[in-house]
Amino acid sequence: MSSGTRSALTTVLQTIRQHSPVSRASLTRMTGLSPSVVSTSTKQLLERGLLEEHGIHQDTLGRPQVLLKINPSHAVAFGMALTWSGLHAVMTDLEGTVLASHAVPLVSDAPDQVIAQCVAEMAELRKQHKVRNKDIAGVGLALPGWIDSETGTCLKSTVHGWNGVQFRPLLEDALGYPAFVENDANALAVGEKWFGLAKHYENYAVVTLVDGIGAGIYTYNQLYRGSRGATGEFGHINIAIDGPACTCGKRGCLEALASIPALLQQAAAAGLPADLPGLTAAAVSGDPKAQAVFETAGRYIGYALSTLNHILDLQAIIITAPADYLNPYLKEALEVSYRDNSVLFADTRMDILYQEEDSDIWALGAASLAIQAFYERGGVIR
Ligand SMILES: [Zn+2]
Repeated sequence: MSSGTRSALTTVLQTIRQHSPVSRASLTRMTGLSPSVVSTSTKQLLERGLLEEHGIHQDTLGRPQVLLKINPSHAVAFGMALTWSGLHAVMTDLEGTVLASHAVPLVSDAPDQVIAQCVAEMAELRKQHKVRNKDIAGVGLALPGWIDSETGTCLKSTVHGWNGVQFRPLLEDALGYPAFVENDANALAVGEKWFGLAKHYENYAVVTLVDGIGAGIYTYNQLYRGSRGATGEFGHINIAIDGPACTCGKRGCLEALASIPALLQQAAAAGLPADLPGLTAAAVSGDPKAQAVFETAGRYIGYALSTLNHILDLQAIIITAPADYLNPYLKEALEVSYRDNSVLFADTRMDILYQEEDSDIWALGAASLAIQAFYERGGVIR
């Protein structure tokens, strides 16, 4: 396939995906391609089964127009995510619908063992749905750490003790499919763009509040990776000089003050339940000390969000955290603190959205890396 043909196919596909269902006449208008190129491209995509017809629409002159949409069952993608609780795997269709998911504890941090577990998980998911090799668009792997996504190398992960591990070739050699490796918060930001809350934003950040605190940042509809794949170290913004020690070796980082382990440590010191559901239940039942733990964390996070937005001038920040953490005490304190500390607030509006974290959304973010690449190469499996 020539690069021009592939480029036209990619443009047509992306436009149909975003505006589905859509007629050929609308596609011509929206893409700026000639009617003959649109006709050839859609014919090819229909023959390959990547598009399907979706009824008839009358245009303004009363002429019937066949509407086209993506066939989500044309291919599947796999997403693997390493989280604090283990390896989470999903298999999705092309619209990000999770067809199957599975989670196992990680048996070892050794890279070859991690790859072996990924391969075993994919085999398990495939077995449930009898997926053929030619139906697989690719696999994405989301990891905590600094990632060079061009080569699929984990440059550094303090969580797993990796330095310069080339995961992408290891995965591709083991599987024979295209593989994509990305930082976990970045993968989540891609997932929100493709299938979640960020579909209509061009400039946004996904902030993850879990065992650590991180961020994935989109600017002008592109994931911002920085010069070394080390963007989004939002948890290590210094909030309190001489504050508590952080896992990074510094003091007073946001993560040391407002991550879930930090909160539970504060709860234990105050004689409160040292587990998140228990601490939330205490706050909801009216315990002012438990409410104060969440309110203090919310103030720190809102303060840090105002800094992030001062630098980036975002349309939205999507806060991803366990449902228990996203309680009214945390959210209200966070929003008040963001507003009180934001010089931009009076002049610009930035949406603060909340996404309840579950294991599937990390893996769905990873799968969206493979789906994005599938569309970028014109919907060709390989
Ligand atoms: Zn730190």
